[in-house]
Formats: sequence, structure tokens, C-alpha cells
Amino acid sequence: MTTEPYITGAHIIARTLKDLGVTVVFGLVGVPISGVAEQAINLGIRFVGFRNEQAASYAATAYGYLTGKPGVCLVVGGPGVLHAIAGVGNASENNFPLLLLGGSTETHLVTKGAFQELDSISLLKPHTKIAIRPSNASSLSPIVANAYRTSFYGRPGTGFVDLPADIINEPLDPQAASNVEETPAVAAPPKGGADEARLLKVAELIKRAKAPLVLIGKGAAYARAEVPIRHFIDSTLLAFLPSPMGKGVMPDSHPRNVSSARSAALKMADVVLVLGARLNWIFHYGEPPKWNPEAKFIQVDISSEEMGRNAADAELSLLGDVCIVVQQLTQHLANWTYNPSLSDYFSVLKTARQGNEAMAARAASDPSLPLTYARAFDVIKTALHSLSPPAGGGICYISEGANTMDISRSIFPLEHPRLRLDAGTYATMGVGLPYAIAAWESYNGPGAQACSGPAKRKKVVAIEGDSAFGFSGMEVETMARMGMDVLIFVINNGGIYFGDSKSTEDWAERQQRTMRGDPGLRSWALGWEVKYEKLAVACGGMGFFVRTPEELEMATVAGFNAKVPVIVNVIIQSGKVEKPSFGWQTTPK
Ligand code: ADP
Ligand code: MG
Repeated sequence: MTTEPYITGAHIIARTLKDLGVTVVFGLVGVPISGVAEQAINLGIRFVGFRNEQAASYAATAYGYLTGKPGVCLVVGGPGVLHAIAGVGNASENNFPLLLLGGSTETHLVTKGAFQELDSISLLKPHTKIAIRPSNASSLSPIVANAYRTSFYGRPGTGFVDLPADIINEPLDPQAASNVEETPAVAAPPKGGADEARLLKVAELIKRAKAPLVLIGKGAAYARAEVPIRHFIDSTLLAFLPSPMGKGVMPDSHPRNVSSARSAALKMADVVLVLGARLNWIFHYGEPPKWNPEAKFIQVDISSEEMGRNAADAELSLLGDVCIVVQQLTQHLANWTYNPSLSDYFSVLKTARQGNEAMAARAASDPSLPLTYARAFDVIKTALHSLSPPAGGGICYISEGANTMDISRSIFPLEHPRLRLDAGTYATMGVGLPYAIAAWESYNGPGAQACSGPAKRKKVVAIEGDSAFGFSGMEVETMARMGMDVLIFVINNGGIYFGDSKSTEDWAERQQRTMRGDPGLRSWALGWEVKYEKLAVACGGMGFFVRTPEELEMATVAGFNAKVPVIVNVIIQSGKVEKPSFGWQTTPK
């Protein structure tokens, strides 16, 4: 029994969130949902208010990923829900847990053309794990709690509750209010392991492999499987390759990390153990020409629907929680270690690694100006590492943009998990600033619930292409208002991919041509040397406009030490791009 009398539905929703252990809510309010946000604040829940529901919904998904509990997002009905669908799509595609609470029109006004009217249940049902509308205030608690639970039990995704204005505002008589039960906390999702017969079969297959490879995905990071996976790799000495967000589950510095010989590893691997990753575009579907056509894939996943997809063999799949299954496999492979002398696998990988690393080192020291991507990232990395060495896990990196994300991915090493977020499975651009806010809140907020490595507090560093930055650029105001000292780099080549102008004059000249009906600026052009750093200054943060390695280094150090959001606007070469020699590419070939 709770002692506080409830007055309206808004109180009950806020109280339920509090009882569920929610410490922060992301959103953008208006009537009728603002009442819920206000009551949540009164109960000590932190409300992070965004400038667009899309950004709020993205932030909630990343908070869910980093903390292992649903991120909560509050939005108005109609257009608010439509904008937040971006986050719903992101949650579904990445399997991140999200609880979306959307306000809506009074029940008796539905179909009358009411304010922000939308049949959001019909719209969201196919894209969520549960989409439900309570019929009165007294059913609010169990419905909100159930949507919360459903979003992160099983394979994570979205729970949606549609909250009509009349229910949010419904006054409860004092008797009914005092009878509202406290909502019991939702226990951590139950975990299961794989069946013995399968484990035996898979262990035999791994023992017979000539070129085995372990893929580590963001499902393993989400499951906090770093300790059992580390133990497994150290006891079997298998080679491993992380996905872009699986980076850090195993330290990048580990000798069995074959990331810098990725293409060679994919081509040669004959038995592939997939830990919390999918054989989708990120891993080229497990198919030739990138992969060895003879490769056998063993999937370890929480979702049975995932088993057997694309090149994976369902008969070899291990259904269960990755932490438990990896411990089971470690036992089945006890007293066995991979013997590299069985094939030329490791020597080929070593040669490939040496070649790729030499190429990367040459790119990193390219003296040309404007800076190249590789040189700019090398300067940033060197400065950041001197301030916060990777072993401490004191930096959480966020990265988005096509070339910016592709090229930076291999440059910033991680020694601990969940310290790199990027555009993810949906290749969603615009997530950078919202994810940075979520990471700041998850690691540094008053109710911080995420952990990774020794450093408790994390500096959040967002590395953004100039195009990607634009999708959610106004969220720098959210950061400033909420006291978030995020360091943002805008890698500015004046366009999407490689841009389409050489100077302000060139840009203006091409625009003129459009006026005359001739082909003008190409579709990937953006403004030339736009002063993005001024946006941070305007909001109460700091800004730096840099062209040279020396300026970039100084700005990186100042930005790292600042207590406000900082934008470092880095002018780099436009009109051409250095192709990374290995890694994932969202850039068209
Ligand atoms: P990546 O993008 O890193 O390759 P994906 O998002 O494609 O990773 O895949 C992550 C996979 O992890 C999903 O198929 C998801 O079902 C799975 N997963 C999530 N949590 C767990 C868990 N606790 N145990 C096993 N698998 C999990
Ligand atoms: Mg660009």
C-alpha cells in the first residue's frame, strides 16, 4: 500500500514508473502528457526534455541498451507519436528495450477530428511487442508495468501505452486512490541455457575446425557477457572478431582479436561461433563472396526466430542467454585449446594484419591540409589517450555519419564493453547527439545505472559527420540545459559522403547554375565551412573551429576538460575520400 493519495491518472503513471525503479525519463511534453512528466519530476524522477520526439526516442533506446532496462520516453499524441516512431524502428531493428508512453485525444472525441488525433495503436501494433490503451485510470499501473516488462523480456523491443487525455486527467476519489497498490519491481529477465546434445555436437565441430572464428555482437554487450566470453577466449585461444558495437566485450588489444585482418578472417573461417550477433548486412549475411562458402555458422542467440537465417545452420544453433551458453561451451571445451599449426590460418591473418596496420599508420601521418579523416582521427585519438588511457574505460564514443563512422571505427580502440554506440543495425543517422545524451545519463546521471571498466564517470565523445550532426544538432541545447559535458567533433567536409563544393564561391556559383536551369549542386552538397561550433556557444557551451593538427589537438584537450558541451568543428578534405581497407562500409562503393 502506498501512503500518498493519488489524485489523477498522471499521478498513477508517475508513481508506477517510480515503483518500477525508473530514475530518468526522456521526452518532449505538451498536453496531455505534460502532467505525467510533472508528476514524475515531483517524485524525484529526472526528466530530460528534447527538442524533437525523434531524438528523445533515440535516446531512450540507447539508455535501454546501456543499462539493460527499458528506456522510457514520453511524447504527445499524433505528430509526437509519429516522430517517436523513429525510435520504435530503431528499438526493433537493434533489439533495444524501449517503453514509449504517448498521450492522446480524449476517448469521447476520437473520430471527431480532435486535437492531435491519431489511431496510434493500429499504427504501432506491427512494430512493437505490445501496444495497449488502458480503459480507465485504475488499470494504468498493471498496464504500464506489463508494457515495461514485455519490452525487455525475451528479445528486447518496444512496449507502447497510449494514454488518452481523459485517463491522464481522471481524478480518483480518495478511497480508490488509497487502494492503489504499490507496483512490484520487475525482476531481471529470466535466463536459460542450451540443450546438452547440441552443446556436445557443437563442441566437437569447434574441436575439428581448422580456422575457427568467434563473432561478438552487441547482443553480447547488452547481455553483459564480457566476463564469461573473456574466460572462454582465454581458455580456448580462439580468434575473435567484434561487430561495430560488440567492440570492447573483449579488449581490442587482445592478441586473438583479428579485426585488422577482417577480410582475410571472413574468407578463411570454416567454423564460426556467433555470440549475440546477426548474420545481416553487418556480417554480409554469412555468404560468399565475403565469407568462405564452406563455413559453418553456430548461432548463440536468445531468439529462436533468428536461428537458421541466411547462411546459419539451425541444427547447429544454441538457444539461450549468451552468458550461460558461453559458460556451457567453456565447460565442454575444457582442456582443449585451438592449435594454430593445423593450418596456415594464423600466418595468413598475421600477414594481412601487418599490411593493414602499415597502411593505417601511413594514412594516420598524412601531412596534407585540409586534414584527411585518418589524420584528424589520429590527432583526436592521441590527445584523448593522453588524457584518458583506454585501459581505464573513461571515454564512451558515439559515432555516426557514413565515412566518419566507417573510418573512425577501427581507429579508436576499446578495452571495455558498451563504450561505443553508432548508427547500428538500421544505419540510423541522427542518433549521435541523442545517444550521447543517453550515454551521459547512463554513466554520469544522478541515477546512473550503466557500468563498464574501472572508470565510473565517462567522458562522452561524439564523432559526427557534418551531415549526421544536422539531423539532431539542436540537441546541443538539451545537453547545455541538462549540464552534460559532452565533447562533439563535427568532421566537416561540407557534405554527405564526400561533399560537392570547393569553396563558398564554388558553392554559390553552382547554386547560380541551378537558377539558370543547369545542373547545380549535387544532392550530397551541404553548406561550405558552416560554423557549427557557434551552435554550442549560443546554447552556453564552447566551440572551436579548427583546420590544423595543432588547433585540433588544443581544442580536443580544452573540450575534454570543459564542464559544458563543446563542439569542435574540424575542417577536412572535401571531394574525395580515403577508403578504409577493412571494416564495414555504409559508403557506396
Ligand atoms: P550486431 O549488430 O552487433 O551484429 P545484432 O543486433 O545484429 O548485433 O544482434 C544481436 C543479437 O543478440 C540479436 O539477435 C539478439 O536476439 C541477441 N541477444 C540479445 N540479448 C541476448 C542474450 N542475453 N543472449 C543471447 N543473445 C542475445
Ligand atoms: Mg560530411
